[in-house]
Amino acid sequence: MSLLHGKKGLIMGVANERSIAWGISKKLSEAGAELAFTYVGDALKKRVVPLAQSLGSKIILDCNVEDEKQIEDTFSDIKKNWGNIDFVVHSVAFSDKSELSGEYLSTSRENFLNSMLISCFSFTEVARHSAPLLNKGGSLITLTYESSKIIPNYNVMGVCKSALETSTKYLARDLGKRGVRVNAISAGPIKTLAASAIGDAKFLYKWNEDHSLLKRNVNIEDIGNSALYLLSDLAAGVTGEIHYVDAGYNKVGMPDPKNIV
Ligand code: NAD
Repeated sequence: MSLLHGKKGLIMGVANERSIAWGISKKLSEAGAELAFTYVGDALKKRVVPLAQSLGSKIILDCNVEDEKQIEDTFSDIKKNWGNIDFVVHSVAFSDKSELSGEYLSTSRENFLNSMLISCFSFTEVARHSAPLLNKGGSLITLTYESSKIIPNYNVMGVCKSALETSTKYLARDLGKRGVRVNAISAGPIKTLAASAIGDAKFLYKWNEDHSLLKRNVNIEDIGNSALYLLSDLAAGVTGEIHYVDAGYNKVGMPDPKNIV
């Protein structure tokens, strides 16, 4: 398959081989894309560099999205190396683990602002700094998780995802004029580093597996395939969309009583 033959793009958010961003990277690379990667700090560099190199990547940059200058520098480096790009994958989120259990009511001001900065506003800054480099027909995606309903323990991150999804729509409006598309994938729960910080995560995986329409959890390959569709010309008419890849769980109003164990 060569849906992305000759296309170049940046992947932000690989931490290890279980990361959703890694599942996406593998599918984009198989489809012919040339990839650049960002990581955060030396600890993750050790894990991300070998993964990125295994897909032939030559551009691997340190970028903590808490600092706008680092986002700016990332796109300057990419411009120097490549000139223009075709896509960016934003697969980045963070919140203090201690606030991903219990009540939302206890959220601290400091963690609220930091979670919003990293998990939501960074996508807007990434869009702003990548916009001058994006070719017509280019595309941005971000990763979200169910924000229209209450999920136990998700708390401040649910609020961040709600704002991220609305940002996606406004960015799609702004960049649509330049022929650039902006979409979000709303993934079902997957066992990753970030997801393990959410209270009762094991129960969440089991519940979704038992009650999703497909009776299974999704995996990083499922998300990779959907990302490939959204970033390729197959989705040339799709923008501002929150695309669920969750085995149909979002459509369930109430689980089948016969299926409660
Ligand atoms: P992950 O831990 O593998 O990835 C999270 C990434 O965010 C890591 O690479 C980490 O380095 C990066 N990050 C954190 N703080 C950062 C900062 N200050 N600057 C730059 N990068 C930073 O976990 P994941 O589950 O693959 O998460 C990727 C995205 O998918 C997140 O937005 C997450 O909310 C979303 N998501 C995850 C699930 C799930 O169940 N795993 C479901 C839906 C959506």
